[in-house]
This record gives sequence, C-alpha cells and structure tokens, in this order.
Amino acid sequence: MTTNPLLTDWTTPFELPPFDKIKPEHFEEAFETAMAEAKAESDAIAKQSDRPDFGNTIAALEKSGERLTKVARTFFNLTSADTNETLQQIERDIAPKLARHSSDMLLNEKLFERIAELWNQRETLGLNTEDAKVLERYHMMFQRAGAGLDENGKSRIAEISQRLATLGTQFSQNILRDESDYQLVLETEEDRAGLPDFLLTAAAEAARERGHDGKHVITLSRSSIEPFLQFSTNRRLREEAFNAWSARGELEGETNNARIITETLALRSEKAKLLGFENFAAFKLDDTMAKTPDNVRDLLTKVWEPAAAQARAEEQKLSKMAANDGENHTIEAWDWRFYSEKVRKEEHDLDETELKPYLQLDSMIQAAFDTATRLFGVTFRELDDIPVYHPDVRVFEVLDPSGQHVGLFLGDYFARPSKRSGAWMSGFRSQHKLNGNVAPIIVNVMNFSKGAPGEATLLTFDDARTLFHEFGHGLHGLLSDVTYPMISGTSVARDFVELPSQLYEHWLSEPEVLSKFATHYKTGDKMPTDLLDKLLAAANFNQGFATVEYTASALIDLELHLLDSPDEIDIAAYEKAELGKIGMPNAITMRHRIPHFQHVFSGDGYSAGYYSYMWSEVMDADAFGAFKEAGDIFDEETADRLLTHIYSAGGRPDPEETYKAFRGRAPKIDALLKKRGFAA
Ligand SMILES: [Zn+2]
Repeated sequence: MTTNPLLTDWTTPFELPPFDKIKPEHFEEAFETAMAEAKAESDAIAKQSDRPDFGNTIAALEKSGERLTKVARTFFNLTSADTNETLQQIERDIAPKLARHSSDMLLNEKLFERIAELWNQRETLGLNTEDAKVLERYHMMFQRAGAGLDENGKSRIAEISQRLATLGTQFSQNILRDESDYQLVLETEEDRAGLPDFLLTAAAEAARERGHDGKHVITLSRSSIEPFLQFSTNRRLREEAFNAWSARGELEGETNNARIITETLALRSEKAKLLGFENFAAFKLDDTMAKTPDNVRDLLTKVWEPAAAQARAEEQKLSKMAANDGENHTIEAWDWRFYSEKVRKEEHDLDETELKPYLQLDSMIQAAFDTATRLFGVTFRELDDIPVYHPDVRVFEVLDPSGQHVGLFLGDYFARPSKRSGAWMSGFRSQHKLNGNVAPIIVNVMNFSKGAPGEATLLTFDDARTLFHEFGHGLHGLLSDVTYPMISGTSVARDFVELPSQLYEHWLSEPEVLSKFATHYKTGDKMPTDLLDKLLAAANFNQGFATVEYTASALIDLELHLLDSPDEIDIAAYEKAELGKIGMPNAITMRHRIPHFQHVFSGDGYSAGYYSYMWSEVMDADAFGAFKEAGDIFDEETADRLLTHIYSAGGRPDPEETYKAFRGRAPKIDALLKKRGFAA
C-alpha cells in the first residue's frame, strides 16, 4: 500500500487534491507511477485484437491516464501559483519526461492506425455531433504531433518536443527569478513623493512580507508597479522601476532568455517544416478560426493604423501637460502613465485615488458572482475549513438554480513571490460525463496587491476588469456540459477562448452592476452618480496607448513565427527593427517584450496566438450588442442562448457556427472599433 497522498484515492471534500498532505517530494514517485499506468492503458488500447470502434478506441483513450491528469494538474497549478525551489527542480526534471511520455503515445503507430481507420469511416459510424467532434480532435491531434511521419521524422519530433518542454520551463523560471529578485525599497520622503495612500498601504504590506518592516516596497507585479508609474513624482525612480520591469528576461547572467528564445523559435520552425508547413505560424494557425497568418495580419493592421494615430495624438497631450508643469523633456515610457493620469484628471475630472475606495476586492467578487446568478441562475456559497494550497485561497461551491452542485471555484487573488505574474484561470478537474457526472474544479489566480491586515483590498478599475475576465473563463469551465474531457470547458480554438472571458468584462462597465457593488470601503456608501458617470465617460481614455502596446506584441509574436532562420537573430536588435517597421511610438513599449513574453515562450499556448485576444474581441464587442438590442443586459432569452451556444458548449460546436447560432449572424468588426473609440 502506498502512503503517497497523490496516489491514494482522494477522500477530501469534493475530491480536491489533499493539499495538507502533499509534499513536493511526493511528485516524483507519483509522476513515475501515473505515467507507467497511462502508458499501459494506451498500449492496451493500441494492441487489442478487436476491430477499432469509437468505444474501444476514442472513448477508451478519453478514459485513460486519469491519474496522470490529476497529478499533473495538481503539480502545474502549484508551480504557477505557489512554487518553491524544490518544486522548480522537479519541474525542470519532469517537463521533458512528460513531453516524452506524450510523444510516445501520440507517435504510437498502432494507435494512430486505429484512429485513422475510424476517421476514414466517420460518415458511416453513426456518430452524434459530440462523438464526431472528439474523433476529429483525436485525428488532428495525432497528425499535428507527427503521427503520419516516417521513423526519422517521428524520432526528431519527439526530441524537439522534449527540448521545447525544457526551454519553456527555463523561460518561466527565469522570469519569476527576475521578478522576485527585484524590489524598489522606498526609504525617504522623496522616494515616496506623490504616492497615494492605497499604494503606500500595499507597499508597506509588500515590505512587511519581504522583511523590510516599516518601509515601503514596490515590486514588479503589475498591481504594484503600474500605480507607482502612475503617481510617483520622482522621475528618476520611475525610470529605474520601469527599466527593471522592462528588462525582465534580458538581464546579463543566468536568467537571460535570449538563447532560450532563439532555440525555441528554431525548433518550432523545424517542427512545422517536418509537418509540411512553411513556418510555425502557418502550422499553429491551421487549427484556429483565423486559419492563416494573412488573416491575422489583416485584422491586426486594421486596428493598428487608427490606434497608432490615436496614440500619437495622446502623446501630444502628454507633452503639453509636461510642458505646463515646466518639464521640457520628451515623453519617455516611464512618463506615459504619470502624465496620462494627469490628462485624465483634466479631461474627465477623474482620478484613480478617488475611484479606488469604491472598488473593494470582496465587492467585485460579489459583483462577478451576482452577474452570473442573473445571467445563468448559478449561486455561490463560500466554504471554510477546506484544505487548500495557500492560506489566501478561498473556496466557493457553485450551485445550480435547483441547489444542485455544479462545481467548485477557487479564488487565489494576491501577489506573492512564489506566484508567477499575470492572471489566469486553470482547473484541477474538468467537467465530463465519462464516469457519471464529474464536476469541475476551477481556479482563478490573480496578482492583486493585498491590503493591510484587517483592511479591505482595493482594486483599480483595470484590476476589477481582470477579475471579471478570469471569472468569465472560470464560468466557461464551470458551466461546461459535455461528455468528453477532450472538448470540455475552455478546450476550444485559441482565438475563440477569449470570447467568454472578454464578453464577461462588459457587465462590469454597466451602471446597473457598478452602482450596486461599487461601495466605499469605509462608509459603505454607493459610488456617487457623478463619479460613476465620469468613470464610464472615460472608458475609451488612453485606448491608443493600450491598443498599441497590445497590438505591437501580437504583430511581433506573429512575425517571429514566420521567420525562416530564427536561430540567427539577435533578439534585442530584431525587436527594435520590427517595432521601427510598424512605426511604434517611442514612448510606448510592447505590453510584453520578447524576453519576458510568457504567453509565447512559457510553453506554446499562445505562440503565434497572442492575436487571439483581438480576434475574440471582434466577437465579444459584437456579442454584447445582443443584450443591448434586447434592451436588458440580463435579458433572459439572450442569456439562455449564450449559455447553450457558448458557455456550456465547450469545444463541441464549430466556433463560427456556434457564434452565429447565438447572434443570428457572423460578427462585424464595427463594434470593436467603436468600443475602442476608433470609429464614430
Ligand atoms: Zn483570457
């Protein structure tokens, strides 16, 4: 009998991983055992003498490797949200082994023959829509992994996959180290000049956590550095902090990512060519809604032109504002947020410090929950005393309108040195119905600056939007109603997956939601109507900047994956030259510079895929119009269609078809341009 808690049956509430018993050293054995078990299962499916049918091949594969999935999800959720040196060491060791394990299965000839045979007979197998979709996904997954290649091709593909897994792990770990190594300790009054109370409170808390009691610390977490850049009147410190933020992954020494990036790009390019594609972007996009690099560039360019023009106009206003202050320098990247805040105050009489007391984390969580209740009828109940992986993690049970269990939602909201930067949704378990109804366990991870002990945590409006965004992904996972894990929840095309999340953001900007949940953290008063009006009126403020920093990242991600000999480039010089070509304004940097572009280089999730946010935005901007046209942002009939065709459908339907089924027509780009303030 094993005593390894990862390998025993989980008798915890809701079968959550037994976090209180799991120790890092349990993972190695658990991975070895679970991989061996998964391999035995897939080998048995491949070797059976029965003719292939959907049940003994596709459904059987869906049922296989269950323990490995549980162990891996537990592990990778921990290495993202609460890692340590032991876990990082195991991660470096296990990443290539898992890649190898996966290649062994995907390159198993007998298995592929069975899948290909079913694929060839698909019209005559009497499959329902969902079975047919799952068969298609399997066939494509094997093909795209190299199953159809000769022996040499297959073994090279397997080598490439292993090496890429190692490189992706190193890339992330380097960024995390650069981020946790840096702190700006504010020692004097002059260092703290201009900083509002909310930021000082959060900086004092960050200092306490880092052993600088009584001082103030600014970190490279977005929730810390962005407000610092917005408010600090100390230009020298703004420059220092900005440069540290911008240089992640680019510092001299062990954590420099340049060679990892060029090797990654070269291996991706080689893999794409082995699989018969001209370049990695063409390979990657073949399995998306966008389909081709040209379609992606076309969309991005349509947005880039008006955005860059607007950004230049914004910059002029910032320069004028600086000149009014008697500052005669040009606007640099570390000045943008500072002067932008001043211009916003002048144009809209709106400043972040006035807004922030009304945006409490707890109320915004309630706002996100309440929106889901009004749209989809689900309710949320917080549970205490459930062992979790970190004391900050909160657990909520999700119930359907009749009080039945839908799933579990974990919220992990605060920044800490053991967490990678950014915000994301992930799952410990996906919804499926292979062995009865299996309920999802979904987690949202954020990096908000924590309020002082016993005090409310206050968000910026951007933070609140991030919370709604990730909760939209969360609902996509929680409301999933499919049979097979392969197409569960967010397992959809990469450029469709941001639709449920970005669409959800729209409700946050509605007076009906804000006026109810934006309450002052001390007095409990509702946000005054004029402040609310000003906030909404300023919605498009600085959109030139925001669109430019995003679109530049998306364009460069695309170009990097079109390169023919990427191993020969000098990353810093390449980035500079490419930005020059598209006319990037000097005072704006990419939202994610290449050396720390985790979407693209920590694994290949969003590689040649960062455009996906914009692709999905064409749909989300257009989709929200359905509620507006119905005259009610919670219109029941529209919400029902949204649930049926999008939030519960997972990857079962074709994305274009399902969008049309929801909206009654294909999306138009007009709504996006209008939303960003680029069209009348
Ligand atoms: Zn997202």
